[in-house]
Amino acid sequence: MHPDVAALLAVQDDDVVIHQLETRLAELMPRLEQMSRERDKAAAALASARQTADAEEKRRQEVAARVGQHKSLQEKHQSALNSVTSMREATAATAQLEAARRMIDEDERELAMIGQRLVEANHHVEDRERRLEELEAAQREARESLAADQKQLETQIADARKAREGKAKSVPRTLLTRYERIRSRKRVHAVFPLRGASCSHCDTMIPLQRRSVMEGTGATEICEGCGVMLYAAE
Ligand SMILES: [Zn+2]
Repeated sequence: MHPDVAALLAVQDDDVVIHQLETRLAELMPRLEQMSRERDKAAAALASARQTADAEEKRRQEVAARVGQHKSLQEKHQSALNSVTSMREATAATAQLEAARRMIDEDERELAMIGQRLVEANHHVEDRERRLEELEAAQREARESLAADQKQLETQIADARKAREGKAKSVPRTLLTRYERIRSRKRVHAVFPLRGASCSHCDTMIPLQRRSVMEGTGATEICEGCGVMLYAAE
């Protein structure tokens, strides 16, 4: 094998390692995004539970205010009853007093129901607060671990790039440029050996004349089948 090709293969080995490290780094992102989505979902569930509890509390205050109004109405009718001067007035005041009492009874039944719903709604809020806290605590650990992985990968990538640049200096410029152009088309491997008379990547047959030149001079050729760079291994 021509020493230029050997130098290029060493660069390719480093590029493959860098590619693997970069893939692992990219894979961390969806995990972070997934955690954010889970957290947002738990926070939304809590917000919705709080909204329900707030609505019940508002309703409770409205009904409580209405009880107050109905009680003062009741007092008014009571004092009217106390100062009646005729049987007709007494009947009318008694009827109004009864009506006020019925309204108060109704209000209080409603208050009791709202009270039950409020207890339930507040339990929901507490439950969801706890779930969100637990999720955040669990995610804190996961985030720390991911951040450590990220830092480690970034260091490894920086080291691998430095090593790769050192090795690239031993590869002739034109050969390196051609290799990099092939790799820029989203290829991980750009250089392949001949296997027998064919490209070892796509099995396209390479004409004898070109193979002879490759074997004789150590020159590389571009495969017409798949576009990779080929070299004679022997
Ligand atoms: Zn090929």
